[in-house]
Amino acid sequence: MKYLLKTENLKKYYGKKEVVKALDDVSLAIEEGKSLGLIGESGSGKSTLGRIISCLEKPTFGKISFMDQRIDNLSEKQFRSLRKDMQIIFQSSKGVFDPTYTIGDSIKEVLKNFEKLSEREYEERIDETLKSVGLDPDLKYRNVNQLSGGQCQRANIARALILRPKFVICDEPVSSLDYSIRKQILNLLNEIKEKYGITYLLITHDLSNVSYVCQAVAIMYKGKIVEYLDDTEKIGEKVIHPYSKILYASIPKANPHNRSIVYDKDNERVSELNQIIKGCSFWDRCEKCSEICKKNIPDLKEIYPGHKVACHLV
Ligand code: ADP
Ligand code: MG
Repeated sequence: MKYLLKTENLKKYYGKKEVVKALDDVSLAIEEGKSLGLIGESGSGKSTLGRIISCLEKPTFGKISFMDQRIDNLSEKQFRSLRKDMQIIFQSSKGVFDPTYTIGDSIKEVLKNFEKLSEREYEERIDETLKSVGLDPDLKYRNVNQLSGGQCQRANIARALILRPKFVICDEPVSSLDYSIRKQILNLLNEIKEKYGITYLLITHDLSNVSYVCQAVAIMYKGKIVEYLDDTEKIGEKVIHPYSKILYASIPKANPHNRSIVYDKDNERVSELNQIIKGCSFWDRCEKCSEICKKNIPDLKEIYPGHKVACHLV
């Protein structure tokens, strides 16, 4: 099988004395045309994975391949030729555009970095791309402060699309928008996926977005993929991992913002109560936890074709 993107044993540690394992051994594969939804509560490492895959940051350990080429060891300069094929869309699009530029000029700058065209061709391409995201091309003469939240996110998508990328990472693309606009933007992501043959990594904490846009889903908890499904229909009925079940019952118990995982020198996790925690990252929140869960880290194992779970109890 050919993969568009593959990560192997990806780790990202932050801090020196107290280490946070933002990514803890993440191995993932994304097939071309099969968009992946990455879900998990706040702090689980989703954005870190997005930044590392898109080469905005280096992993502490592990490999990343994109279009059959290893990319984790490339310098920014070496990665440049691949940047055209891999774009990232962030939650808050306001910051993406410089308010002293018009929207059109900001988008043109991205295009100019990669393609040598005539002025007329630049303008045509910008107009066409703005239209394809549902914006009036005349909006290119405005600056970011003259756009609504929804228009701004559309312009942001146009900016990512202008290079005709193969792979687009969307990090919470609708979270900063009003509920009434979210569906429209998700619709737009779906439309352009078909039209331009884009594959997404859709990062979201909103589970309802996933089946809408993606064909596969990975559930992340404390830097690890705890469950992966090759199918996004009725995910809530199919998930098996105790954490996924909690997510889908939408009753996250702990306040994720209060969570601080700290590790001691021997790389053992120390909980908020300063007890050393080994084994499964979820055992202290798991109702079914047994002795083995406290001792050994469960592997992400395939239990049915296309369905992987990291849990000792399945
Ligand atoms: P998510 O996107 O799922 O909310 P993040 O990837 O933003 O999660 O964060 C995962 C963990 O890594 C969190 O505990 C966060 O505090 C930590 N983290 C993320 N970025 C940094 C950084 N630059 N420096 C230190 N810690 C970080
Ligand atoms: Mg995030």
